[in-house]
Amino acid sequence: MDDATLFALLVDLHRDGARQGPGGKSETLQALELCRLDAAAALRVADIGCGTGASTQVLAQALPQSQITAIDLFADFLLVLEKQAAEAGYAHRVKTLQASMEALPIAAGSLDLIWSEGAIYNMGFEQGLRCWRPLLRERGLIAVSEITWLRPDPAMEIRDHWQAEYPQIATAAEKIATLEAVGFDLRGYFPLPPRCWIDNYYAPAASRLADFVARHGVDAEELAQWERQEAALYRRYQDDFSYGFYIAQKRSGGT
Ligand code: SAH
Repeated sequence: MDDATLFALLVDLHRDGARQGPGGKSETLQALELCRLDAAAALRVADIGCGTGASTQVLAQALPQSQITAIDLFADFLLVLEKQAAEAGYAHRVKTLQASMEALPIAAGSLDLIWSEGAIYNMGFEQGLRCWRPLLRERGLIAVSEITWLRPDPAMEIRDHWQAEYPQIATAAEKIATLEAVGFDLRGYFPLPPRCWIDNYYAPAASRLADFVARHGVDAEELAQWERQEAALYRRYQDDFSYGFYIAQKRSGGT
C-alpha cells in the first residue's frame, strides 16, 4: 500500500470518530487546570495535530475569550471541526490551519498556550518541543501528551513493538528531563487512564471497522487488522505504557 492510499484510508476510518487518539474530556480539563491560566483572559492558543477537534472543543468552552488555531495535516478532519465549531457557536474564535506541525506559519512569541494530544510523536517529542518552543511567549505554556513507559522494565513483546514503532518511547522521568533540557519547567504530569484508550478510542474505532472494510476491501482489511492488533497489545500491556500528559512552562531566556 502506498502512503497516499494509507493516509486516505486512515482519514476515512477516523474522520467519524469523536477523537483520533487516546484521551478524554476530563483529562483535557485536568491538564488545563495544571496550566493555572486565567480562563477569562484573551489567550492565544494553538492545538497542534487537532484531528476533528476533541480537545479544541474542550478548550474553546473552558477558555471563553481565547482565540484558537486548530492545526492538522488533513483538511477532512478540519472540515468536521469547523462544522462542530459553527454548531457550538464559537466558530469566530476557532480558526483552522492545514499545515505540517514541522513548519508552522505562526509568528515567534505569539502564543500563550500550545496544546497537542496524541500527535507530537509524528515529529518526535524532543524535535517537536524544540520546534514549537519559539512560538510561545516568555513563560507561555505547553500541554502535550506523549507515549510513555509506566515502568522501567516493560515486557519484552511490548518493548520490541515500541522499539519498532516509536523508539523515543521513554519513562516520564526521561521525558521530563527532555522537557527541561529543551527549556521548559514542569508544571504537572499524569498518565492517561485505560478508559481514555479503550472506551474513548479503541472501542468506538472497532465498531466502525466492519463497515470500513466493506467500503474499501483488501487494503482496508490490512489496516483493520493492524488496528485490532494495536488494541489487543494495549489491552495486554496497559500497565506498561500509556500516554503521559506533560504540562510545562517556557523558561525565560534562550530563543
Ligand atoms: N489531537 C487529536 C488527534 C490525535 S491523532 C485527538 O486527540 O483526537 C494525531 C493527529 O495528528 C491526526 O489528526 C493527524 O492527522 C495529525 N498529524 C499527523 N502528522 C501531522 C503533521 N505532520 N502535521 C500536522 N498534523 C499531523
